[in-house]
Amino acid sequence: MTSSRVSAYDLHCHSTRSDGVMQPAAVVARAAQRGVKTLALTDHDELSGLAEARVAAEAAGIDLVDAVEISVTWRQHTLHIVGLHVDPDDPVLLEGLRGTRAGRHERAQRMSAELERVGIPDALAGAQAYVTNPELVSRTHFARFLVESGRARSTQAVFDTWLATGKPGYVAHEWASLEDAVRWIRGAGGMAVIAHPGRYKVTDAERNELLGAFRDLGGVALEVVTGSHTPEQYGYWAKRAAEFGFLASTGSDFHGPRESYRDLGDLPPLPSGCRPVWAQF
Ligand code: AMP
Ligand code: MN
Ligand code: MN
Ligand code: MN
Repeated sequence: MTSSRVSAYDLHCHSTRSDGVMQPAAVVARAAQRGVKTLALTDHDELSGLAEARVAAEAAGIDLVDAVEISVTWRQHTLHIVGLHVDPDDPVLLEGLRGTRAGRHERAQRMSAELERVGIPDALAGAQAYVTNPELVSRTHFARFLVESGRARSTQAVFDTWLATGKPGYVAHEWASLEDAVRWIRGAGGMAVIAHPGRYKVTDAERNELLGAFRDLGGVALEVVTGSHTPEQYGYWAKRAAEFGFLASTGSDFHGPRESYRDLGDLPPLPSGCRPVWAQF
């Protein structure tokens, strides 16, 4: 399965500890088999897969970066901030993530009620069948239920119809603040990275303010290459990183073999001129 196109670094992926479909050990084994040399497991708001992933990484001979993807609310926008090389035992980070996860169940109940109003009953019960970490029910689990029950052809279609911002099953939610997320990551010895920056529906002015605020807080990198970006966006975000003095990261955002745009390590090289975040590992 190894091919020359596989990136040695994949610094963003998910396991069953959040909304991925493979166990942490299986994610690591798949990455190693595909030729990835350094993998960061970045479950949403959750560090509990890292111990299992570390055992698997030692067995497979690949480097594991202890990491996390934190859900953040910044001016009504939901952002994701990746923390690389965090201490998975850091008490402040652990407590911050516990608090961030805490609202998910009630949010899921409200999403289910909203879906009921548009003719989809029992969506929470349906989603629960796909939940693999009881503290981490996510929109992805609702999407799997809606696809498997024949209401949509793809998870993308589910988001477009029901779950994206402003759609009938969308429920606004207050996640961690940007300040807290970066503080927790830095306090745990980690490097803060803005995940898939091209995905956020912000104005040009907000984008500039976000980059400035993130840098002022001590954020160090942008995901330039990600499964969420087009090739044009690689170039755009490489320029923004250079402009703001950010390092550049790369990650597939793998959730499962059939669900993700990209498999583990299926990433082109960073655009020339980028300073890779791993130069500082
Ligand atoms: P949540 O944290 O519950 O809001 O769920 C967010 C997750 O939903 C993301 O991490 C992705 O896995 C998934 N997701 C968000 N937007 C989309 C989309 N447009 N298509 C497919 N999956 C998406
Ligand atoms: Mn996800
Ligand atoms: Mn994300
Ligand atoms: Mn992700």
